[in-house]
Amino acid sequence: MVPAVSAGVGGSEIFITGSVIGMAATIIDGKAVSARLKEQVGRGASWLSREHGIVPGLATVLVGNDPASEVYVRNKNKAAEALGFHSVSYHLPANASEADVLARVRALNDDPSVHGILVQMPLPKQVREGAVLDTLDPRKDVDALTPTNAGLLLGGHATLISCTPAGMMLLLKEYGIEVSGANALVIGRSLLFGKPAAQLLLAANATVTMAHSRTRDLPDHCRRADILVAAIGKPEFVKGDWVKPGATVIDVGINRMEAAESKYKIVGDVDYAAASERAGAITPVPGGVGAMTIACLMRNTLIAAASAAGLPTPQI
Ligand code: NAP
Repeated sequence: MVPAVSAGVGGSEIFITGSVIGMAATIIDGKAVSARLKEQVGRGASWLSREHGIVPGLATVLVGNDPASEVYVRNKNKAAEALGFHSVSYHLPANASEADVLARVRALNDDPSVHGILVQMPLPKQVREGAVLDTLDPRKDVDALTPTNAGLLLGGHATLISCTPAGMMLLLKEYGIEVSGANALVIGRSLLFGKPAAQLLLAANATVTMAHSRTRDLPDHCRRADILVAAIGKPEFVKGDWVKPGATVIDVGINRMEAAESKYKIVGDVDYAAASERAGAITPVPGGVGAMTIACLMRNTLIAAASAAGLPTPQI
């Protein structure tokens, strides 16, 4: 039997306490939820290996030497190894040609020990992202960025869902946040986050508004949002008084800001201190939605491994 790997990762005892003005917002603990999700994925992987002799395999492809990308890729491989996955990484030089990168992707498409391929973005200028995504086998596209997987999401039939938006939905579910009928505002329209996040919220019956750099009266849109999602990439851009009292705030931004003694700190796209005085629930940065991304990547790799063998998708 396929073990149930459910989205409710064991937190039904969590209640939203901050929906009354004046109460502190509930802090949505992405670290704790992602740790439980990883445990479940690990159990799913053990089952797949024990019952079917399949070890989920994740391959990462990094092109160039962007320090942040190097850290992201290392963390993804580490997480895969910790779960007992087969984990391989390929590091191509910054001047690798598009043909080199496509050849590596094609080789991984054909490698039966690899179920998930992650090509770390952004890529150097000479390598077109579109060409890479057109080459990547959609069944191994664990970042869910290929046109096929984006289209399946639109149609409501996606098996592999973009990791950070999927992580957001798991957090909303885990914390019992009512999505159906809610006014949800997604600020940012990237392929990586904003667009899939809006689709997932729509599929969960929210009334979704998408905002971007040309949106007029953004604070007004924010003040109407029961669920306010910010994926902009600008430190503390969303102000506390833009938040509707009792709203749920999902802060996707990861921004480096100067701190004392020439150090840096990571902040989100929302002014966290001010917003948490009005929000019902809020994700911190770090430790909120960002903490879910790698766990969801592992979950996608497990799903891809099961479905490559024609096995039912574990219910995650
Ligand atoms: P992106 O490609 O960086 O694009 C930013 C989006 O914000 C664009 O759609 C842009 O609008 C919009 N925007 C920019 N200025 C704005 C303004 N003044 N008002 C309203 N909208 C504005 O987006 P992304 O890749 O989704 O990244 C956004 C942030 O999320 C970054 O900090 C990134 O690091 C973070 N992120 C984190 C994770 C994770 O936790 N694992 C995953 C994904 C992203 P236009 O389209 O009009 O230019």
